[in-house]
Amino acid sequence: MKKIALALAAVAGIAATGAWAQGYPTRPITMIVPFAAGGPTDVVARIVTDHMSRTLGQQIVIENVAGAGGTTGITRAAQSEPDGYTIMMGHMGTHGAAPALYPNLKYDPTKDFAPIGMAAGTPIVIVAKKDFPANDLKGFLEYLKANGEKVNMAHAGVGSVSHSTGIFFNSVVKAKPTMVTYRGTGPALNDLMANTVDFMTDQIVNVAPQIQGGNIKAFAIATPERSPVLPNVPTTKEAGLDGYEVSAWNAVFAPKGTPPEVVKKLSDALSKSLDDENTKKRLLELGGVIPSASERTPEALQKLVESEVARWTPVLKAAGATAQ
Ligand code: ASP
Repeated sequence: MKKIALALAAVAGIAATGAWAQGYPTRPITMIVPFAAGGPTDVVARIVTDHMSRTLGQQIVIENVAGAGGTTGITRAAQSEPDGYTIMMGHMGTHGAAPALYPNLKYDPTKDFAPIGMAAGTPIVIVAKKDFPANDLKGFLEYLKANGEKVNMAHAGVGSVSHSTGIFFNSVVKAKPTMVTYRGTGPALNDLMANTVDFMTDQIVNVAPQIQGGNIKAFAIATPERSPVLPNVPTTKEAGLDGYEVSAWNAVFAPKGTPPEVVKKLSDALSKSLDDENTKKRLLELGGVIPSASERTPEALQKLVESEVARWTPVLKAAGATAQ
């Protein structure tokens, strides 16, 4: 008797979830961006959610929760109710590099999320302040070697994209700059433009407009091909640097346990957004790479996260990095 009652209760529970999930969303959705406003994660989030909100018939409100290289915001989002009303914009740092750097990380990127889909690929560009006393990558590397700690490298916190690609860069070129932490590379870029910090390695969608405007210098892009929006910026290989090819990405996640119907609605809305001409134009103008239909699925994102954690862990351990 008890067993039957329990079974019925379970069926009723599933039916109830199904019913509300079908009606989802009936109120605004919060998307946690784990970095300061104005930076690349924030910009990608605002671009893709614009069209997603229209598809879903509810506003997606961005909440910037910065700190600890993005892990503060992602922890909060991972621990929120898995009802589709709190989602997040993660990236290669929060869901790829962070586990190698935080021994006490409160989430496992491969287990604690319901992946929604990739939002954009974001090549890494090596950029410096306009007044930096070098004009090409070769001169930049020489200067770095000669000046050691006197050179300041900006990054968005331990485990962020700029931090992990930055320490990887330092290990490849054997540089030891002083690391300067920001709450996102939006504020770091402001200081780069103000000439108060020297260089960083960051996502193209943040830096492309300022490179085009001549407000900062770009020494190289760390991809096998040049970017169409930065045709004059050489690849690292063209500029004579082997062993530093790296690209980042931003992707949407929900907390683990989010009902499959809700995941599907969000993932379909994201995919529709990425097919929208205006969304595409805005991402492409910034140098973003639009994921193909097969790269946008929750399954593809799960695989990407697993492969990124596996790829970054040895690289960062070898570079001797920890969150201290
Ligand atoms: N691009 C940044 C990072 O280094 C974060 C941001 O501000 O979006 O992870």
